[in-house]
Amino acid sequence: MNPERSPYPCQRCGTCCEKGGPSLHREDRPMIDDGRIPARCLFTIRRGERVRDNLKGDLVPLTEEIIKIKGCADRWTCLFYDRATRGCGIYAHRPLECRALNCRDTRRIEAVYDKTRLARQDLLSGVNGLWDLIEDHERRCNYEALHARVEAGIHEGRLKQEKAILEILRFDAHVRRLTVEKGGLDSRMLDFVFGRPLCDTIKMFDIELAKKNGVYELAVTPAFSREQPIG
Ligand code: SF4
Repeated sequence: MNPERSPYPCQRCGTCCEKGGPSLHREDRPMIDDGRIPARCLFTIRRGERVRDNLKGDLVPLTEEIIKIKGCADRWTCLFYDRATRGCGIYAHRPLECRALNCRDTRRIEAVYDKTRLARQDLLSGVNGLWDLIEDHERRCNYEALHARVEAGIHEGRLKQEKAILEILRFDAHVRRLTVEKGGLDSRMLDFVFGRPLCDTIKMFDIELAKKNGVYELAVTPAFSREQPIG
């Protein structure tokens, strides 16, 4: 269905763009390859991260990673959205999901939403050295491992797992620092290359980091300390 011919044409209210940028699909790759969508404007949500399923409305762990266009600073609003004009900065080349989305008629977006999604492997596996680093990072800092430690902490007492959890977080921070300082990676690429920093996303497990006397430790929210299962 051609969105221009939809009985419910877009009203340009901007709500969709303010809710967050699109996930990218194989059809969007030419725009990344030729820089119309620069890689520094992307971020990765890795497998196992909990995200809101826009169609079902629930928080669910991702079964496969997705690559999205970043938000603006501390808001989810898509980086390419201009609030003043209510316009898209890359409208002529906007990604597949943006072309398919009509909030009053969701049939097209539902048809493409979880198909042909791009992953880092599609875009970065050919980059010498970097892909090995990403694979190593995934082995040591994946969300399944983190989730298992958090669950074990709930059942065995959090202190038994605190060291292991902090170790995962430290390695994540170390790899990011090293890749920028020694490897020369543009720091704006980090959230695309390694996903969002674990010290930020750890909140999804009801845990926060706190610095005491210069040393990081886990600050546990009531949900975790009450020894409730992660739901
Ligand atoms: S790429 Fe353009 S149309 Fe798509 S969410 Fe961003 S501003 Fe909106």
